[in-house]
Amino acid sequence: MESGSIEKLAANLERIRQGIDRALERSGRKGPVKILAVTKGVSPPLIEKARELGISIFGENRVQEAREKVRMGAFGGAELHFIGHLQTNKASLAARLFSCVQSVDSTRVALALSQASVRYGRVCRVMLEVNVARDPAKFGVSPEEALNLARYVLGLPGLVLTGLMTVAPEDPEAARRAFRGLASLRDRLLSEGIPGDALAELSMGMTSDYEIAVEEGSTMIRIGRGLFGERA
Ligand SMILES: *Cc1c(COP(=O)(O)O)cnc(C)c1O
Repeated sequence: MESGSIEKLAANLERIRQGIDRALERSGRKGPVKILAVTKGVSPPLIEKARELGISIFGENRVQEAREKVRMGAFGGAELHFIGHLQTNKASLAARLFSCVQSVDSTRVALALSQASVRYGRVCRVMLEVNVARDPAKFGVSPEEALNLARYVLGLPGLVLTGLMTVAPEDPEAARRAFRGLASLRDRLLSEGIPGDALAELSMGMTSDYEIAVEEGSTMIRIGRGLFGERA
């Protein structure tokens, strides 16, 4: 809906909010659940409309595309999260562009982000991306590696660990198992002494599976198509 009206976007946002409320009610959870608007492939004018509607967290999965949009002022003062696979050679730029990198999945990338953050006098929030379903086609650390990576990140200057992120398989039952797996990994890390602040966010759920994710404990859903329509 690149030609899309603000009315269409408002209706989509309302539908997502209702879906969140239904899922919270079904599961007896309280929330809140934050909505991160995924703007890959979405033009700056439409991003500005989303901001007018009160969306305050955006996500991009390519560093270059995000840089262009930041240059154009598309995100204003909103939070911008990186949700794609980060290559070490882009870490320095990422540390400057993003308020949070959700996709940290190796000590190498964590170290590169830390060094860049220190160099620029910035603090970069990070989440660990976990490949809960062990899908060889997906990025992320295995659940077994997550404890060591969390300890490593907590020891680095310039980074603040805020939670865990996952991308679930397409099948709804497999998705539910993955979301449940991320929530129980969070509990395991807490019991191993990782502080609660570092595990506050569970970033899980996309357009096709966000209600399941909310039922299983998501604190932040990442919605692209459900807000902006199908990508070209
Ligand atoms: C594209 C993307 C999303 C949003 O997907 P939709 O199906 O459009 O809601 C969420 N998370 C990540 C990591 C993505 O790359």
